[in-house]
Amino acid sequence: AKDDGRDTIRFFLPSMQAAADNRLAIEKELRHALDRGELSLNFQPQVNSRGTILGAETLVRWKHPEKGYISPATFIPIAEATGLILPIGEWVLQTACEHLKDWNNQGLSVHHLAVNVSPRQFRQPNFISQVQTILDKTGADPRQLGLELTEGMVIDNILDTIEKMEALKKMGIELSIDDFGTGYSSLTYLKKMPLDILKIDQSFVHDIETDSNDAAIVDTIISMATHLDLKVIAEGVETKYELEFLEGKGCPLFQGYLFSKPVANETFVELLKTGK
Ligand code: C2E
Ligand code: CA
Ligand code: CA
Ligand code: CA
Repeated sequence: AKDDGRDTIRFFLPSMQAAADNRLAIEKELRHALDRGELSLNFQPQVNSRGTILGAETLVRWKHPEKGYISPATFIPIAEATGLILPIGEWVLQTACEHLKDWNNQGLSVHHLAVNVSPRQFRQPNFISQVQTILDKTGADPRQLGLELTEGMVIDNILDTIEKMEALKKMGIELSIDDFGTGYSSLTYLKKMPLDILKIDQSFVHDIETDSNDAAIVDTIISMATHLDLKVIAEGVETKYELEFLEGKGCPLFQGYLFSKPVANETFVELLKTGK
């Protein structure tokens, strides 16, 4: 318990107990998930307006032997809080690089494979050398690798962040800011950072049609990216309307169910082969 102050009155409801128990259970089982081979990777295509696959985002999946699939939205925060994200994040990066190498060997062209990096992982003092080691070990081409960072991690300790980003850029890795618009990054920071891509958060994309404020935000992010000479990609594109709106505003890259859900490697390879 974080706060046992004398003056605090604390309520503990049965539902809170259940949530805490569930969290503990997940933490315990997550510890073993890696060793037991329960984690795998899915890939979600990133396409241009003609639907050509230019890249993909790597999304981790956990298939629990009894509970079935557990969403990363549930277990990634637990992994982050407990530090388990470090071995998991390393495994994801290494496995993603192995896939990248494998696709190249099969003559399939994937311009970019993006991998999510958690704040805790990025803050590791040895993060850069870890990435380099994985590239060396797998023989993956760093110019085909992208890392997705979030606004939050970019803001705390800005100097360390920029230094790390520059090292990654020097290696040839593409850097994007994930969930853009949901955090608090100021334009000043944005300008100082060696970024390649802004990813428009799906919450804005989702409400383009019904919420004129969200439509305006999306419009603004696209034109800002253009002016800052950054690429921009919209995520969570589900409808034709959303696609047409985004295209109309000059957004060149898309990711979302309209094109494809995140899929297992075999399916992704099929998509690449059929050129869809
Ligand atoms: P994210 O990085 O923002 O990933 C996008 C999420 O949106 C994914 O959920 C994806 O399946 C979902 N998505 C994609 N297109 C659509 C769409 O058109 N409509 C809707 N409604 N959803 C769409 P997923 O795979 O459940 O992942 C959730 C979050 O878990 C991710 O959000 C990311 O923050 C985290 N995560 C997933 N894999 C990893 C990983 O390998 N490492 C780290 N650190 N975090 C990960
Ligand atoms: Ca992401
Ligand atoms: Ca995102
Ligand atoms: Ca929608």
